[in-house]
Amino acid sequence: MIAYLERFVHENDAESRPDDDVSSICNALDLQGSIDYGSSAAAADVAGRDFGGIYSVKPLAFVRASSADDVAKVLKAAARSPNLTVAARGNGHSINGQAMADRGLVLDMRSLDHEDRFQVARINGSDYADVSGGALWEDVLKRCLDFGLSPRSWTDYLSLTVGGTLSNAGVSGQAFRYGPQTSNVTELEVVTGKGETLVCSEAENPDLFYSVLGGLGQFGIITRARILLQPAPDMVRWIRVVYAEFEDFTRDAEYLVTRPEGESFDYVEGFVFSNNDNPLTGRPTVPLSPDQPFDRRRLPSKSGSVLYCLELALHYRSTDRPSTVDTAVNKLMGRLGFVEGLRFQVDVSYTEFLLRVKRAEEEAKANGIWDSPHPWLNMFVSKSNVYQFDQVVFKNILKDGVGGPMLIYPLLRSKWDSRTSVVLPEGEIFYLVALLRFTPPQPKGSLVEKMVAQNREIVQYCSSNGFDFKLYLPHYRSEEEWKRHFGNQWTRFVQSKANFDPMAILAPGQKIFSRIP
Ligand code: FAD
Repeated sequence: MIAYLERFVHENDAESRPDDDVSSICNALDLQGSIDYGSSAAAADVAGRDFGGIYSVKPLAFVRASSADDVAKVLKAAARSPNLTVAARGNGHSINGQAMADRGLVLDMRSLDHEDRFQVARINGSDYADVSGGALWEDVLKRCLDFGLSPRSWTDYLSLTVGGTLSNAGVSGQAFRYGPQTSNVTELEVVTGKGETLVCSEAENPDLFYSVLGGLGQFGIITRARILLQPAPDMVRWIRVVYAEFEDFTRDAEYLVTRPEGESFDYVEGFVFSNNDNPLTGRPTVPLSPDQPFDRRRLPSKSGSVLYCLELALHYRSTDRPSTVDTAVNKLMGRLGFVEGLRFQVDVSYTEFLLRVKRAEEEAKANGIWDSPHPWLNMFVSKSNVYQFDQVVFKNILKDGVGGPMLIYPLLRSKWDSRTSVVLPEGEIFYLVALLRFTPPQPKGSLVEKMVAQNREIVQYCSSNGFDFKLYLPHYRSEEEWKRHFGNQWTRFVQSKANFDPMAILAPGQKIFSRIP
């Protein structure tokens, strides 16, 4: 099979490969799943692209593995070759080609997700779900709800795979309490770069377990994850309140995320928006229902061009009395100093709340902006620098917005397990900053380049001013930059690579290590 593929590398450009060879590759590997060649639409249009829409490459093949055994066969075969690389592709929602393999093999992780492999178990009094690494979080939600259970820590958007988010961190408005998704998984099944299938946890193969969590796909392919669950609520009161001053916004957000459980909301996020009528970036993005319009006369006269919104949610059960929910919410809201009269709220089902970005996706697809490029920038910025960040980045560099949401909300370092591969700023409180840029359908290349350059300017500003920050979903090209990113964890990261993927076969799209022949 490898000999065939090597020949294929050379023959690819000439397009001389006959289609019947698909079956010869499948037969040689003896996979339960199937393979699409580089010249096929699936390989070029799916495996060679991602949500970012900035990079595209030509993979040799898109392999639809059906089991961990299939994954191990592919990795062993790649290890026997002098130059093949393998990228696990979750749902390809990376921005900068992280799930791609230029002239390598791309593994379709979604094809590993078979509903009958989903299991819920009670172990030592806690509930867990065993799910495929290729399962979408929205399917995990649906399956857990059948048992009245739910994962505790989410991402805002659920059409992402379990393996894809666990390779980064996975954060949303619950992470202040439960930590990121990487803090809510207790066991993994992983196929290492050597093709070995291992179960790992805090007690068993802990080096592999912690390396893989937040490990940017560098050490192994997650084929199964055991996720910690909680009883699922059925309703959510979803609230947004507006602030004119950054200090008031951060004071209240930090107050809420540092309260003990039971004395705060179940979800705390926030975003920056423009003080204008732009439907994508301005005041119209705040109200949660059309019957609660944004009354700008409520804003203080000295409001600037940028405003802040704190987004909150409280879980409850549909059997709770409305007055009980009102009392609990009003008690928490009473402490907050938002602009009076700029409070918006709706009651929605738990599922509707968790799938809120799905609705935004449908609208964006209808407008043609879901499939256009997304030069996004995600960062963690320490509380110690966030005030200056607001002054320079939000109020100045980005005063005209980014064509989409600009998220900012606090997280607590102590909720993250320092044994994972994720790197964070030093301080206990740091902010997730997400510049979720949207571009018009078929934008001019120069617009995308301008946005990428603006992202670079922001990162450069933070670096040259000595900010305590890290990129989230990092994208660097040189070893020097990766070394700086990992700081004193670089040695450990390199050591884990040598242990679990010594030939650097895995996740070449991250551009951290080069394939060793
Ligand atoms: P892919 O893009 O397919 O892969 C990402 C990386 O993980 C690649 O290097 C890949 O090789 C590797 N990988 C994939 N599967 C596996 C596996 N099973 N085992 C080992 N390695 C693997 N992130 C948040 O934290 N919070 C959010 O709220 C959030 N919202 C988002 C909303 C949208 C619309 C988008 C596009 C992204 C969002 N993200 C968010 C970012 C997202 O978590 C990451 O981009 C994630 O990597 C995407 O998951 P994926 O399944 O598409 O992974």
